[in-house]
Amino acid sequence: MISRDELRQLAAFECQARNELAITFYFQPSTPQDKSHREETILAKDLVRKTLQELQLNSQSSAALDDLNLILRVAETLHGNQARAKAIFACSGRGLWKEFDLPPVQSPTRLFVNRRFHLKPLAAVFSEHPRLWVALLDRQSARFVEIQFEQMREQGSISSSLPRRGRSDGFAGYDAGHSERHVEDEARRHFRSVADFLKGAAERHQYEALVIGCQDVNWPDFERQLHPYVQNRLLGHFSVDLRGVTDDEARSQGERILRDVLNRHHQSLIREALDGSRSNGRGVTGLRRVLRAVEQGEAECIIMTQEYSARAVECTNCGHLDSHLVSYCPACGRATRQLSDVCEALVPATIRNNIGLVLVPPQEGLDRVGNIAAVLRFRADRNTNQLLAS
Ligand SMILES: [Zn+2]
Repeated sequence: MISRDELRQLAAFECQARNELAITFYFQPSTPQDKSHREETILAKDLVRKTLQELQLNSQSSAALDDLNLILRVAETLHGNQARAKAIFACSGRGLWKEFDLPPVQSPTRLFVNRRFHLKPLAAVFSEHPRLWVALLDRQSARFVEIQFEQMREQGSISSSLPRRGRSDGFAGYDAGHSERHVEDEARRHFRSVADFLKGAAERHQYEALVIGCQDVNWPDFERQLHPYVQNRLLGHFSVDLRGVTDDEARSQGERILRDVLNRHHQSLIREALDGSRSNGRGVTGLRRVLRAVEQGEAECIIMTQEYSARAVECTNCGHLDSHLVSYCPACGRATRQLSDVCEALVPATIRNNIGLVLVPPQEGLDRVGNIAAVLRFRADRNTNQLLAS
């Protein structure tokens, strides 16, 4: 799997010489259930062969042809239902070849030949796959599982043995009540030690998001013990009996809650951007304003549809991006180059500048404003106005 640092290095890459080309290859296997898997690998090979032919016809970079031949060889080994999603980034002109297994990303099998790597399907991977812990517990025991990129790892367990109920020596009335209270105390003590374990793990940054599975009857008592640190990372809980639950069930419940939370979060970001834009607040819509917000350091998070694409120009000198297809840069006056898709330059810029990127399915509100919007950290013009007014 790719790390954040590796993603940043890819985002910083740009071809310099004329004959250099940056090649990006995404392979997305079909699910084992559907039998079109073979077709997917045939499609991958055809895609590479076709691009090879086009480059040969244009007698472009021989280094790029070498890269494509290598990718073709990898594509030929992609068979069997076990094949994972894969990404390859290559520029042999600069001695670069990176190959990664990926979680199922929002990208079909595709090949891109450009000045930069195509990173859009990866830019959202870390925010959509936080390190997630699922804590499973009852009144006596607990165990903790980490889930990231479809992999599960056991992270520890706690077992507090409850005393057996008193065998009623003495007056039943008094002792029965007494031992019940004792059991309650033991359960509370157990919940507290589970909560402490989670607090320690949160402080050591062992997880970014948390889901809890327990019986509904235990949830209020346990929730009360959670430290605010832990509550900040808590996405939700589900009802489960610890003795019967399998790892796969815990994982699918954890992932379901994560997806719900992410969806709600994305919808609230869209609302924030649209409302902010209407009220001249912390939101902008449309490519022109989004590009300006990025250039001015205002953008906190860009939201676009998965298939968003738009033509633009890029200044060959200062890097200014413009949605108007002008031949000369309005900022510095030097020549611009055309981008068939603004995302080629915009996505690497978001990664380099730590701007969030959220890819969403097509939806009406976003469609009406051109399928791209941004939430802002601040508004430069308004701050200036406030300064002038004060
Ligand atoms: Zn310029």
